[in-house]
Amino acid sequence: MSKVAVVGAGTMGNGIAHVFAQHGWDVTLIDISEAALAGGLATIRKNVERLEKKGVISHQLSVDTVSRIKTSKSLEAAKGAEIVVEATTENPKIKFEVFTALDRLCPPSTVLASNTSSISIAELAKHTDRSGNVIGMHFMNPVPVMKLVEVIRGPETSNDTVKRTVEIVQALGKTAVEVNDSPGFVSNRVLMPMINEAIFCVDEGVATAEAVDQAMKLGMNHPLGPLALADLIGLDVCLAIMKVLQDGLDVQKYRPAPLLEQMVAKGQLGRKSGQGFYAYRD
Ligand code: NAD
Repeated sequence: MSKVAVVGAGTMGNGIAHVFAQHGWDVTLIDISEAALAGGLATIRKNVERLEKKGVISHQLSVDTVSRIKTSKSLEAAKGAEIVVEATTENPKIKFEVFTALDRLCPPSTVLASNTSSISIAELAKHTDRSGNVIGMHFMNPVPVMKLVEVIRGPETSNDTVKRTVEIVQALGKTAVEVNDSPGFVSNRVLMPMINEAIFCVDEGVATAEAVDQAMKLGMNHPLGPLALADLIGLDVCLAIMKVLQDGLDVQKYRPAPLLEQMVAKGQLGRKSGQGFYAYRD
């Protein structure tokens, strides 16, 4: 059976582990936090049961999916994997340390993939001695539902690593879109300035948050307005990505909206804090 290790059992990591296991992979889910591992497994169980109830997967597949996932608090457990997908906190220091440790632990043929939204693949690769086998594998949230995986080729990523990664994405029932290593890749470089512009509209009194979202939903056929989406992603995450675009591409063009900075400073982070452009009760 093919083996994958997923490092980080949070929002993205548990979704990635779920999808691999559902497609027959032997999964080791690794996190430094016991609570994150327990929470990740509970989320996977809930999501798998929901898929079974909807008739998307059989009872047997639902049982098999959960049974294929083992957990560990040690990176050592990644040793036997043919690919490791890193989905730890979006903090360069944490990711650099994880990549250095994985590089030491895993055989040279193991692909080290990162789910990072904004950290350069070239920088991650510099913390290993296998830059040819380091790649971006940017799953979208919620992972079990979203079809896209942005596959990000670093300057030294080998053709073989790109080919293997694309094949894995397809075997997971998802679609790989290949992009080069550049700030925000493609999805966030296009999405975040739209969200930022929507925030400028509210900030400048052009329209209310509700009106901006209605315009984009009804006029552009977006399933969710940009401000409701910002609340879902987390305003702190949106701000961090705007800063990556600003630092890496153009200071003026990608200037974060002042209202975005103010809301983050006040702890109004969207759904996760209970208040963003909208109020959330739970
Ligand atoms: P999260 O905060 O929900 O989970 C991160 C997990 O990493 C936590 O459980 C934490 O305990 C664990 N962790 C931290 N340091 C670790 C270490 N040294 N070893 C092992 N585990 C460690 O974060 P998330 O939203 O799942 O994001 C994870 C990654 O996915 C980030 O790079 C983020 O940019 C990217 N991403 C997030 C989204 C999203 O919508 N949330 C979408 C696409 C990509």
